[in-house]
Amino acid sequence: MTLIASHRGGALHWPENSPTAFRNTAALPVDQVEFDIHPTADGNIVVHHDATLDRTTSGTGPVAARSLAELKALTLKGTNGEAMLTLAELCALFAPTPIALRMELKPGPDRKYYPGLLDHALGIIDSYGLRARTVVTSFLAGSAAAAARRSGLAGAIWLVAPEVQDMIGTAGVIAVAARHRLAAVGIRHASLDPAVLATLRAAGLGVGCWAVNDEAAIARMFALGVDVFTTDLPKVAITHRPGSR
Ligand code: FE
Repeated sequence: MTLIASHRGGALHWPENSPTAFRNTAALPVDQVEFDIHPTADGNIVVHHDATLDRTTSGTGPVAARSLAELKALTLKGTNGEAMLTLAELCALFAPTPIALRMELKPGPDRKYYPGLLDHALGIIDSYGLRARTVVTSFLAGSAAAAARRSGLAGAIWLVAPEVQDMIGTAGVIAVAARHRLAAVGIRHASLDPAVLATLRAAGLGVGCWAVNDEAAIARMFALGVDVFTTDLPKVAITHRPGSR
């Protein structure tokens, strides 16, 4: 079965990573909710995509340079004055649902991982009893590998950037995954064809896709039978699910 992940809470339906997006996703029959995390300056974790605030909020500069109170005082663009959620608030929202968490570990503005972010996040997730329902993803192979070494998670997935895939090829992707003991990869949908899928599967890897944001691509994911895909259009993806119509 191909699972549907609501990307950033369904970023083409509602403002990305916003409370409105997550509340609406929580009411959908999707399998996973995808979101991104960054640390705050004072020991909290917030749900936000970019390492900086400029694109999506009323603030500027790096997320991690601000305290939680400073971040909560900012509004998310496109919302009715909503503020970004903490990881704990997101856990509280999804704990009563059957939806799995698909948590992306983001790097800082320097494109380096935040030391300690994974275990800090897992501590919060554990306080809601959600570890077994959490998949950790990262474009940083080392961050995904760190998640693969933690016990009790539902998965650890290396998201393969297209330029990386182009440089190292399918064989290179398999070699990196093997070196880091990663059991699954996420490929940009346009970079996955039946041959690449078959080669990755033959190497024993789970295969998902990301940025599946139009109806043709959504239909292709179900036809290919990938394990999971992230989409900004979860309401559309649901209608294409085999057996839904
Ligand atoms: Fe993400």
